[in-house]
Amino acid sequence: MGTGHKLNKNDYINKVFGRLKVLDVIYKYSEKQKRNYAYFVCECQCNNKPIVEIKASRIKDGVTSSCGCYRRELAYKHGLRESDLYDVWCDIKSRCETESHARYNDYGGRGIKFCNCISDCVIFYNWCYDNGYEKGLTVDRIDNDGHYCICKNNLRITDYIQQGRNRRVRKDSGTGHIGVMFVKRAQKYIASIGVDYKKIFLGSFTDINEAIAARKAGELTYWG
Ligand SMILES: [Zn+2]
Ligand SMILES: [Zn+2]
Repeated sequence: MGTGHKLNKNDYINKVFGRLKVLDVIYKYSEKQKRNYAYFVCECQCNNKPIVEIKASRIKDGVTSSCGCYRRELAYKHGLRESDLYDVWCDIKSRCETESHARYNDYGGRGIKFCNCISDCVIFYNWCYDNGYEKGLTVDRIDNDGHYCICKNNLRITDYIQQGRNRRVRKDSGTGHIGVMFVKRAQKYIASIGVDYKKIFLGSFTDINEAIAARKAGELTYWG
């Protein structure tokens, strides 16, 4: 059974977490972590009543409370067109497919494809929300030489700072303002703040003054 500690099934079966009702507890082995993780097999109480397998820790910590329907509902409520994600999706598509795009040579021009699996922007949108997207974050590829694709699992949600780091182009991006940096490739100012040894992302802005204001507001909120 490996090293992961076992949960007592009886403590969880038939329990309801958010919209998820636990039907069974199973274990899956992670090649990467070399250990077993407990998963809850759940039935979501939304219209489709889908059966989903979700890491028990995510449910117990309250990170996941539905099959993904909850975030989807939020996404629709907020409107697709108003979303930054719509811009992200359009930009990804055109840098892969439109030769006149300023960065086509780095993408479509070197064989990076915009996979069919995200040709519907609603599918892309929902995938992003189901994987932790929030305003101010963006999407990049896990394998830099792979395609923009969710069927082969090559996308992840990231912030522009992380994205910049992955590209190994991190030059001096200091702006002279603490907590505000300029990310050249994204052409954006990123505001962040350190709270409990973690960096909290406050947003990305085209105007440095907005980024400085966001940082100031963040100081009030988090350090008050
Ligand atoms: Zn659901
Ligand atoms: Zn795909």
